[in-house]
Amino acid sequence: MAYNKPIPTPSVHTQPFWDGTKEGKLMLPRCTSCSRVHWYPRLICPHCHSMEIEWIEGSGEGRVYTYAVQHRAFGGWAEEVPFVTAFIDLNEGDRMLTVLRGVDASDPESIKVGAKVRVEFEEANDDIHIPFWRVVED
Ligand SMILES: [Zn+2]
Repeated sequence: MAYNKPIPTPSVHTQPFWDGTKEGKLMLPRCTSCSRVHWYPRLICPHCHSMEIEWIEGSGEGRVYTYAVQHRAFGGWAEEVPFVTAFIDLNEGDRMLTVLRGVDASDPESIKVGAKVRVEFEEANDDIHIPFWRVVED
């Protein structure tokens, strides 16, 4: 089935991220002044305000920080309700908002804060592969 959800448009600041997802890599921006990773990509480090940003390949692993079950959505997402959105504590630092796979949205009590997750990528089109996170065995 064709991907029918919103597809991001890369900018000069996010192109390295999207280049990575096409290769199955989770690229993350890291400040070379304070060595901290931040998410989302931006021109200035939110921790120390340096403009010296590099891209590193992340582990693609993290933990569920918090989550919510979505019962209403628009467009292609409406076909997936209920589904779970979550903030992921990236192993490298900072948090990423995502749709969480591999969980039962109709049984929220079964979803555990702190659960180990791994990134995976869904091909939206030839240029954009969208990252999602899936709960995996700890
Ligand atoms: Zn910094």
